[in-house]
Amino acid sequence: MRLVFLGPPGSGKSTQAASLSARWQIPSLSTGDLLRDAIAAQSDLGKQAQTHVEAGELVPDQLIVGLMRESFGTPATQQGWILDGFPRNLAQSQALDTLLQIMGQPYGQVVYFDAPEDQLVERMLKRGRQDDSEDLIRQRLQVYNEQTAPLIALYRRRQCLVEIDGSRPESEITDAIAAVIQPFVNV
Ligand code: ADP
Repeated sequence: MRLVFLGPPGSGKSTQAASLSARWQIPSLSTGDLLRDAIAAQSDLGKQAQTHVEAGELVPDQLIVGLMRESFGTPATQQGWILDGFPRNLAQSQALDTLLQIMGQPYGQVVYFDAPEDQLVERMLKRGRQDDSEDLIRQRLQVYNEQTAPLIALYRRRQCLVEIDGSRPESEITDAIAAVIQPFVNV
């Protein structure tokens, strides 16, 4: 099973990716987590990504695509994956198409998490991550609206988009995703 989780910051993508990855025994590849780990370890990638993450901007595509290429090269990802936080713009989406073509792997479905902006801000303020100050939250939402949201139409045109109401309670969302995705378990 190969799934892309798409949605604004605070929409619950990571939470759902974690619980469904445990349920389905496939890895969840979270670019945000991978970047935070790299920054904590002060690796080359971490050093290059840090200023961008702290400014609420997208990290340059070339760094992210390199990170994804590495992740796809590991044995753990051969049986499937959930992508949480990638792709985040058109160039990344094209890079994903190319990577998958090279590997001979299709992606099954793109799960789009929708939720009202007020609720997103409220959730992120509660979460209290380092990049969750109100200014940075607004900045990340703007980046999402400008650069990531256009992917919704693209995947809808490809008829692989599944919309999920991200404003519902956590466990209901997990069940809703499982209900739509389960029939495609082998894709
Ligand atoms: P959220 O979705 O709550 O904003 P993430 O953990 O997904 O949080 O991402 C945190 C930060 O990591 C982003 O603001 C951005 O700077 C960086 N990042 C994550 N994924 C990508 C990506 N695919 N491309 C560029 N930057 C990314």
